[in-house]
Amino acid sequence: MTEQINAFQMAQAQFDHVARLLNLDPQAAEMLRWPTREFRFQVPVRMDDGSIRVFFGYRVQHSDARGPAKGGIRFHPSETLDTVRALAMWMTWKTAVADIPLGGGKGGVAVDSASLSIGEQERLCRGWIRQIYRNIGPRQDVPAPDVGTNPRMMGWMMDEYSRLVGEYTPGVITGKPVGGGGSLGRTEATGFGVVYNIREAMKRLDIKPENSIAAIQGFGNVAQYAAIGFKNLGGKVACVSYWDRDDQRPYTVSHKDGIDPEFLQSITDVYGTIDKDKARDAGYQIEDGMAWISKEADVLIPAALEGQVNAETVQNIHPRVKILAEGANGPTTPEADAVLQERGIFNIPDFLCNAGGVTVSYFESVQNDMNFYWSREEVLSRLDAKLTKAFHDVYEMAEREKVYMRDAAYMVAIDKVVKAMELRGWL
Ligand code: NAD
Repeated sequence: MTEQINAFQMAQAQFDHVARLLNLDPQAAEMLRWPTREFRFQVPVRMDDGSIRVFFGYRVQHSDARGPAKGGIRFHPSETLDTVRALAMWMTWKTAVADIPLGGGKGGVAVDSASLSIGEQERLCRGWIRQIYRNIGPRQDVPAPDVGTNPRMMGWMMDEYSRLVGEYTPGVITGKPVGGGGSLGRTEATGFGVVYNIREAMKRLDIKPENSIAAIQGFGNVAQYAAIGFKNLGGKVACVSYWDRDDQRPYTVSHKDGIDPEFLQSITDVYGTIDKDKARDAGYQIEDGMAWISKEADVLIPAALEGQVNAETVQNIHPRVKILAEGANGPTTPEADAVLQERGIFNIPDFLCNAGGVTVSYFESVQNDMNFYWSREEVLSRLDAKLTKAFHDVYEMAEREKVYMRDAAYMVAIDKVVKAMELRGWL
């Protein structure tokens, strides 16, 4: 029987690899291999039928060396302490590489939120906060939405926390609705951030955006704004793809002149499912779900799921492809990574490429703290400045140390966290 390594073991293995490259102090390595604090608690919820169901909730604070822990709350049936630990560790590297003064955390509940009524969801959200409110807060740990949670839930959670501590505290949680303490620009942040990274990579690689083509997997939040951003940069988007909930299979949607992202958005539902009949009527071609990866393009943007660029699919990448920009978390397997390196395809690793979301989450808490809100333009221009600098810091590390971009991103991040630990006298 082959041993399955879980997400946390994988996160630790990645960390160990870079700790060796950096010749990291063993005490620092031991501290960073494990979360600083972890909480596991019961959340009993009164269901609509009057019964009580007990859910298990988690919050893991991997590191708060650079500032309050930061990271989403996932509501997913297969959530475990180990998935939350891995995601918390990855958040530490993401906030460090983006150079926002926050640490890494993550939370979750093992539940399929779609199986709950709105009232049950609200009671679960409020119950989660009641169990953990003493250990989170604007100066301790700031959660946000993730898979299975949404801005409305963040509004309930913020409200419950505010009631418990006796004062309005919008900065306890980010990803709140605009008008309820949320920030303008958050919806576009991750997808636009992917494109800021691509733009800077093109400058370094001497590729003209005007003549370039992108192929995108997914058409949800990240992919939609990556498509709009790429078109605004002057490039053409050959295709996007999506999971068709009626047919229970994925499709690629392409157009010979390049897709019109705003039009496709107008025929896409909240789950990122495109109405393929309307697309076909408008002259789009509907192909197999994995066709996106073999398109003749300069840039590939996986922005749907993990593990999509793998030992098998990597073989289908067109020779024209020069950049793989990881909009999704963990879209590339280690086997595919080795092939990409061999082929000289430039990688923008996930925790750098998709750091736009957490960066605007940070801007949201800054605005909450000031009780003063910025325009969308101000948010996006600050985001652009942050990510442009983050990209070049990683690129320069890769050049200087002659390492792959993914290793360079880890090196930049770990270096910053260890420096903060030293400055605080922990080492
Ligand atoms: P989403 O749920 O809004 O969209 C997912 C999209 O992927 C949908 O269009 C869906 O139809 C499509 N999809 C699902 N299975 C597919 C398949 N097999 N083939 C093709 N398309 C498929 O999700 P999102 O928020 O856009 O997130 C996408 C990825 O980006 C995830 O890995 C997420 O963790 C990561 N991410 C998101 C953010 C954010 O701010 N939203 C931030 C950082 C990272």
